[in-house]
Amino acid sequence: MKIIMLGAPGAGKGTQAKMIADKYAVPHVSTGDIFRANIKNGTELGMEAKKYMDQGQLVPDELTVKILLDRVAQDDCKNGYVLDGFPRTIPQAEVLDEALTKLGDKIDFAINVDVPDENIIKRMSGRRACVNCGATYHIEHVPPKTEGICDRCGKELILRDDDKPETVKNRLKVYHDQTQPLIDFYTKKGILKSVDGTKDMNDVFAAITAILG
Ligand code: ADP
Ligand code: ADP
Ligand code: ZN
Repeated sequence: MKIIMLGAPGAGKGTQAKMIADKYAVPHVSTGDIFRANIKNGTELGMEAKKYMDQGQLVPDELTVKILLDRVAQDDCKNGYVLDGFPRTIPQAEVLDEALTKLGDKIDFAINVDVPDENIIKRMSGRRACVNCGATYHIEHVPPKTEGICDRCGKELILRDDDKPETVKNRLKVYHDQTQPLIDFYTKKGILKSVDGTKDMNDVFAAITAILG
């Protein structure tokens, strides 16, 4: 099963993608996580990506597409995957489509996690991410057992630089300009399904599993 998660930054794509990955035993592939791992390890790719990420801009398509196609060509992706944060532009979606068509393959579902802008800024300022393992929390909705400490690995939780309100506003603009058109793109392909992302995360997940079967 090959699934794409769509939605504004902070809509809950990552949260739901991880739950889908667990239930359906497919890898969770997040381009944002791949970029952050590269930044942490000080790679050339990481340094290049950081320039854009810090501004709330998208990393250029050429670079992003290469990273993603390399990732999904790996063995663990053979039986499917859930893409979180890719595609984010029409050209990215087209390249993915062509690559899959060449393999006689296709995306099965594009799940749009729908959350209005008003809710987003609040969600993002409460998001906390583990510096070590990438687990995400929310200070009100999904708090860790001990404040500031990751439940999974015991390391420190931080507010991502790009989750500060000024940058979130840029990211929302970028989302509306460049990513939202994908909703039409996948609607035309007949695979778009929307869920109400303002509900509790378990209710959102129930709506998604009802779609995936
Ligand atoms: P969020 O989980 O809030 O949606 P991500 O972790 O997916 O954020 O992405 C963080 C940043 O990484 C983006 O703002 C962008 O700069 C970069 N990025 C991630 N995925 C892509 C992509 N598919 N195309 C371009 N840039 C991307
Ligand atoms: P995205 O990957 O779309 O950027 P995340 O999954 O990281 O979004 O979620 C953004 C923030 O909102 C996180 O702090 C997360 O814990 C929290 N969150 C996710 N889903 C919900 C929900 N249904 N209700 C309330 N908060 C949520
Ligand atoms: Zn952790």
